[in-house]
Amino acid sequence: LRRRIIRAEKMEVVGHLAASISHEVRNPLTVSRGFMQLLLQSERMNYKDKQYIQIAIEEIDRAEAIITDYLTFAKPAPEHVEKLNVKTEIERVIDILRPLANMNSIEIQASLAPFAVKGERPKFQQCLLNVMKNAIEAMPHGGILRINVSIDKDYVLIHISDTGIGMTKEQIERLGEPYFTTKGTKGTGLGMMVVYRIVETMKGDLFIHSEVGHGTDVYMYFPSYYKSDIEKSSKRHQFEQVSY
Ligand code: ADP
Ligand code: MG
Repeated sequence: LRRRIIRAEKMEVVGHLAASISHEVRNPLTVSRGFMQLLLQSERMNYKDKQYIQIAIEEIDRAEAIITDYLTFAKPAPEHVEKLNVKTEIERVIDILRPLANMNSIEIQASLAPFAVKGERPKFQQCLLNVMKNAIEAMPHGGILRINVSIDKDYVLIHISDTGIGMTKEQIERLGEPYFTTKGTKGTGLGMMVVYRIVETMKGDLFIHSEVGHGTDVYMYFPSYYKSDIEKSSKRHQFEQVSY
């Protein structure tokens, strides 16, 4: 009994560590960035000093971006596999991304159904976030982000499409390669690597179709939690058309 209690405590520490990284490391970064921003406005700083501060701010933004791509949903509890409602999880991610979408004049159209998949909630949300964030970032001058949920055989299909800049064949091939980014210092090149890893863990599959100047379609397949989802989908389509 004693040994078991110690192990439980250790597990808790591991969980807390993950949460620390996302929340407790983010806060000091934000505070430091704020003070550097203040220094930038100070009249005592010469041009050279301000250049150094600017670099420090860019580095903080980089650390922040890496945390976003890895640990946005990390929780202070051990993660476990559970039944996930794809509609609920997608809505949660849309809520988080809405400010970014608004800033880019992007309309979000979602056609969601409450199908179930099996997975760890934070990982699944991270996967959706990274794909949708890429879609938004591909439309800096506005566009439409579409999210559709359907059933395809034993799989729940999440189709995420954008009307953005698109990708060349070479870019599609390099997708998921660590540090591959076309966004310069603003990109981490880690987002899609994380996505591929999570999809694999959940025994899913991912396909990309993209055309330069037209947009990108990402098809994510996850094994359906219930076989009955398949019957449900053919009998009564409980889809909701929502514009955000
Ligand atoms: P990051 O977003 O930090 O650059 P990712 O791994 O998320 O890293 O994406 C890698 C690259 O894949 C991006 O830099 C971009 O060139 C390309 N990419 C991913 N999604 C899209 C998309 N929806 N439209 C256009 N390009 C995309
Ligand atoms: Mg990304």
